[in-house]
Amino acid sequence: MEKKIEQYDVVIIGGGAAGLTAAIYCGRARLKTLVIEKALVGGLATYTNEIENYPGFPEGSTGLGLMELFHKQAKKFGVKFKLTDVRAVKLEGGSKVVETFRTDYQCRSVIIASGGKPRLTGAPGRMHFFMTKVSLSAPPVMRRPTPGKRLWLSAPATLLLRRVCS
Ligand SMILES: Cc1cc2nc3c(=O)[nH]c(=O)nc-3n(C[C@H](O)[C@H](O)[C@H](O)COP(=O)(O)OP(=O)(O)OC[C@H]3O[C@@H](n4cnc5c(N)ncnc54)[C@H](O)[C@@H]3O)c2cc1C
Repeated sequence: MEKKIEQYDVVIIGGGAAGLTAAIYCGRARLKTLVIEKALVGGLATYTNEIENYPGFPEGSTGLGLMELFHKQAKKFGVKFKLTDVRAVKLEGGSKVVETFRTDYQCRSVIIASGGKPRLTGAPGRMHFFMTKVSLSAPPVMRRPTPGKRLWLSAPATLLLRRVCS
């Protein structure tokens, strides 16, 4: 199968909070911009029901709701989105190439915003209780004491709590 070739000024790998923010800036600067996302536009933030530390949202927001606004704002500035996996990048030379299964995207700049992965403990049930009884961040736990309930903290969370409480 012959691969298609498309050209952009900027290709952003990853449509999470970082990639969408970069996309808004590039789109607003009138650069022909493409975001390539292999899963869900919005990235890791879409996993959380409650974001309370984002300025401008005194009542907080859901992660999905906030990321939908980022997405809408990027599209408003003409940014294009492709849902596919980036398989390789070639960064040497003037024209860079971002490769996907069907298409090679040639561009002047590549922004890599492919994020990270939360580190889960090896405890049994960690995936089953993910986001209901297992939290990945300490702040919600610190904010809402739950008297009478048992709380298990992994080692990094214990260190963070110790730092905050001392
Ligand atoms: C449960 C949970 C709750 C959180 N709560 C808060 C909170 O309340 N407040 C706060 O400030 N932060 C919170 N965070 C952290 C916040 O979600 C992250 O800091 C933020 O999402 C990081 O954004 P990012 O764009 O760097 O990465 P990501 O969100 O990880 O986005 C990277 C994207 O790149 C894509 N990608 C990776 N490789 C490829 C590839 N080869 N091709 C195409 N696409 C690719 C991924 O699919 C992903 O969508 C929370 C995180 C979690 C998991």
